[in-house]
Formats: sequence, structure tokens, C-alpha cells
Amino acid sequence: MMDSGAKKPLLGLTVDELGALLPSAPPYTAKQVRAFCFEGKKIDEMTSLSKKLRAELEENFVANPVSVMRVYRSKDGSSKYLFSLTDGNLIEGVYMPHSYGNTLCVSTQIGCRMHCAFCASGADGLVRDLDFSEILGQVVAVNAAEGGSVKKRAVTNIVLMGSGEPFDNYGNVMRFLDEVSAPDGLNVSERNISLSTSGLADKIRAFADSGRKVTLSVSLHSPFDEERSRLMPVNRKYDIASVVAAARYYFEKTGRRVIFEYTLIAGVNDTDRCAVRLSELVRGFPAHVNLIRLNPAGSALSRPSADAANAFLAALTALGVSATIRRSFGEDIEGACGQLRRRVISEEKAAEAGAPADEPAKRGGRGKFTTV
Ligand code: SAH
Repeated sequence: MMDSGAKKPLLGLTVDELGALLPSAPPYTAKQVRAFCFEGKKIDEMTSLSKKLRAELEENFVANPVSVMRVYRSKDGSSKYLFSLTDGNLIEGVYMPHSYGNTLCVSTQIGCRMHCAFCASGADGLVRDLDFSEILGQVVAVNAAEGGSVKKRAVTNIVLMGSGEPFDNYGNVMRFLDEVSAPDGLNVSERNISLSTSGLADKIRAFADSGRKVTLSVSLHSPFDEERSRLMPVNRKYDIASVVAAARYYFEKTGRRVIFEYTLIAGVNDTDRCAVRLSELVRGFPAHVNLIRLNPAGSALSRPSADAANAFLAALTALGVSATIRRSFGEDIEGACGQLRRRVISEEKAAEAGAPADEPAKRGGRGKFTTV
């Protein structure tokens, strides 16, 4: 829910919804406002509207509820965006240019309820769900900041893999998907969108039934229930069998190969026994395993060596599993979920208290700092 005192967003409202807000304007105005919002224009930049109308709108509304607060450019080409929302909350996103297009990783919640052992996003629990316009606003803000427009987008691919569990904010995520792919919205094909879930099996099935065609990624991280429950408490509600069955259902309904994400943690889930059990689980339908070496992000768990990760990959491949090791981006700019937001909040708290902020970026420096 949005803060009731904060200005309301225009971004993503339908032509009818906008029309209702503009009763005395000519009928095409709503269409224009909708298009301006997707271009990343502020209300005072919507120059085809009368000055009076712009002033009226500005009293109660903002075009985009998401503002870019800072950008951190990594030497690997990726950029971490720190955004502020109209109620003062902070969220983050990562922009990753590739040869085939540019991917933006967006957040779906402020914080997260899942409490995965290795993840910084859930460390402080859930603050609130993001409204659909706040998910959309991240894409619009970065597209504009990177020099894109609606016709010639800078952001070509979107992954819902930032902070939050998308299926714990199902309604807003669905409306986000509808608006970001709408022909009179940003017109991003659902095929260029991936959604990552910690495995809410009932929502995976509902999503399959919804007829959307986005790529589904499921965070598995262990093929054994006892261990997965330790790493991901959500496994106590949806065990591995139910998650894999739901993933298979997703394939059957959509025809889309499912990706299993598997964060490698040294000595925990990178053994041969894990590779064998994992291969048995993902057999029998088109699936791909994405291995990610843990970003320690302040947890007590450790990251396996590149050799250990390659050995796990080789074991999986020998067992007939399609698998790759995912390159990890932005390690020098706190690219892991929730890391940056936590540091900035701790710095702000320290500044309020007059104490020096702790400096969690010691591990690798925090990249070039740019204020926008
Ligand atoms: N809640 C969703 C999406 C968020 S995170 C989910 O759980 O899938 C996207 C991926 O990054 C997930 O697979 C998550 O488990 C993984 N991840 C989170 N923190 C990580 C870290 N410190 N190192 C490596 N992977 C991490």
C-alpha cells in the first residue's frame, strides 16, 4: 500500500483511469499523459498540456513514483541504481548491458518475508509490497536515465530478481507485467522477461494458468528437503517435490523451459551427492540449472572456489543436465539483493546519530560513485 499522504502516481494508469482524473481536458489528453509517463517525463515536462492542467496535476500526483537517487557504475559495465519512493523508502535495481540487449533487475517488495539464510534482502524482513507502478517506475526511470525512449528502449530485458518475492506480491506483479508489455505501455515482450521465485508452488500453478509467457526461474539451492529448509524456510511450506511438480506444470502449460537457480555454497550444497540428487529432480522435462557462486553478502556462509563450481558443473553435465555457471555482476558495487539498500540505511541512521557509518564496502570497494 502506498502512503496515503504521498502523491499518487500517474504511471501505468489506463486511459480510462486517467480520463477520470482529467474531466475537463479534451479526450486525447489521457492518451498523451499515459505516453509521457512511459517516456519518463515529469508532469512539468508534459509541455503539450496547458500550464494550468500541469499545475493541477502536480498538486496531487507524480508521473513516476520512483526517482533515481544514486547510480554506482561498476568496472564490469553494470550499474546499480538506488531509487527513492514517494514515502521516502529506498529500493535498488541493477542494469546489465549485454551484447544481445540490456537487462534490468527490478525489486518487487521493500525487504522480503522469506528469510533465506544467504540473502541480504530478507535479513530485516518485509517493509511493504511495492505497488505495480513502483515496479514499472524502476524500468521507466532506468530506461530514461540510460538514454532510451519507448520506441528505442535502452532496457530490452527485465528480470524480477531484485529484492522481494514476486509471488508474495502477486496482484501487483501481474499488473506490472500487463503494463510493461502493453502495446501502448513499454511494449516489452513477455519473452524478454524472467521472474524468479523462491518456490511458492500454488502461485507457480496460478501463474501457469494465467496464460502469461514469461521465463520462470525457481530458486532451488538444495535437492534435499532438510537442507533446503535450513537455507530457505519457505521449504517448510512448499517442499521440493511440490516445487518441482509446479515447475513441470509451468512447462506443460506454457511450453517454456524452466530455469532452476542454484546458489553454490561451499561445503553445503556443492557435493557430488547433491549433483546426483539434483539431476534426478530436474530430469524428464525441459529445464536448465543456473549455478551462481554465493555472494557472501555478510552471511556466515562461504563462496566455493571457481574450481569447485566448475567441478559441480561438470558433474551435472555428465549426468545429462543442461547447466551453466552464471556470471555475477556488480560485485564491486554491492550487486547482491538488498546489500546496497541496507548499507545506505545504516549510513543514514549513523549520520542521524552523529556516529560514523559502518563501511561494508571494504570487501572490494564500492565502484565509482555518481550522483544523478
Ligand atoms: N525471491 C526471489 C527473487 C529474488 S533473488 C527468489 O528467491 O528467487 C534472485 C536470486 O538470487 C535467487 O535465486 C536468490 O536465492 C539469489 N540470491 C540471493 N542472495 C544471494 C547471494 N548472496 N548470493 C547468491 N545468490 C543470491
